[in-house]
Amino acid sequence: MSEAPSLDPAMLRADFPFLEVEIGGKPVAYLDNGASTQKPRAVIARLSEFTAHEYANVHRGIHELSERATAAYEAARRRAAEFLGASQPEDIVFTRGTTEAINLVVNTWGETHVRPGDTILLTEMEHHSNLVPWLELARRKGAQVAFVPVTENGAALDLDAARRLLAARPRLFAFAHVSNTLGVISPVAELCALAREFGVTTVIDGAQSAGHLPVNVSALGCDFFVCSGHKMAGPTGIGLLFGRAELLEAMPPWQFGGEMVARVTYTGATFRPPPARFEAGTPAIIEAAGLHAAMDYLDAVGLPAIAAHCEHLGAQAAAALREIDGVRVFGPDGHRAGLVTFHVEDVHAHDLAFFANERGVAVRAGHHCAQPLMRKLGAPSSCRMSFYLYNTADEVARGVAAIREAVKFFTGS
Ligand code: PMP
Repeated sequence: MSEAPSLDPAMLRADFPFLEVEIGGKPVAYLDNGASTQKPRAVIARLSEFTAHEYANVHRGIHELSERATAAYEAARRRAAEFLGASQPEDIVFTRGTTEAINLVVNTWGETHVRPGDTILLTEMEHHSNLVPWLELARRKGAQVAFVPVTENGAALDLDAARRLLAARPRLFAFAHVSNTLGVISPVAELCALAREFGVTTVIDGAQSAGHLPVNVSALGCDFFVCSGHKMAGPTGIGLLFGRAELLEAMPPWQFGGEMVARVTYTGATFRPPPARFEAGTPAIIEAAGLHAAMDYLDAVGLPAIAAHCEHLGAQAAAALREIDGVRVFGPDGHRAGLVTFHVEDVHAHDLAFFANERGVAVRAGHHCAQPLMRKLGAPSSCRMSFYLYNTADEVARGVAAIREAVKFFTGS
């Protein structure tokens, strides 16, 4: 058996200036990567250099500066296609992020394909971004929404139920690759294969998987895949939508304006082919250059190594938190992504996060944009630690120690 690829977070930390920041006079342990990740120097430098010397609007000017900016923007698209394993750059649409990418699919594919009486299949562990847009579409269309349940304690998706629900041929199945709350890594290739068997269109929410583990949309066999630049060492304000070419070509535009049109008269317009059709107005040009640098950085470190490292920290945190009296850890018992959500009986999650903050540890408290799931699990408010390539075992230990102290302080046990 080959050895698991590894990385040295201590070395990589030097690439992330943010990690020099202190809170309350203590070096920060940034354990809120599920919300957003920090950026390496290579990304910061690229954003700065592009802004300083390469910036112009894209696709518009005949002048050389616009041509150069356009070349950089389209190079980022080619890089994104390669990064996600798409067969051609035209299958990649730049969006503001995962949320906008899902809304794009809802308002184009969904608007034209979902009919009264149809079922939209989601799972119980979706982020609000992959839930609310579908609920609204269903309401508008007179469609219904069904959910693949999670098993006890949010350990996994119930795959038997998924099979049954897919066999009923819903119009679409939209589901997270990695749950931002439970740390469940779903068997997405298997789910896509099953969906294909029943002619069901698939949307994978890759907000927590892209840049964290290797993703190849061709191998996964999905119809759509969405993710956010800011959760994969890139800038805010940019995300990716991968769509299968036949689907994108048949989809109407959803936002109208410059750049997405072919010919315009005073009475109407014709539209360009994808991806331009879905990128009305001036896009996130600087951010595209920054995201390009982020993808280069992540590939240089190696996604298998990043995945192994984060999953190892996730397992370490889950095991250590389970040792603390009164702590309930949600999600899988075994293999999990690099994040852990937990709840302490009789202690408010905000108190835990506040206590951790005092010790320089940044953890997330709240409902993690998954209110129905957390209600189902009986913990409307909980804490989450989430890791990335620069986090160390030492930081996990600091986070766990802060929680142990907090539990002792608030419960006296
Ligand atoms: N889906 C999942 C699983 C997420 O974790 C998030 C971000 N927390 C989103 C969607 C939304 O991403 P964004 O805010 O970047 O649009």
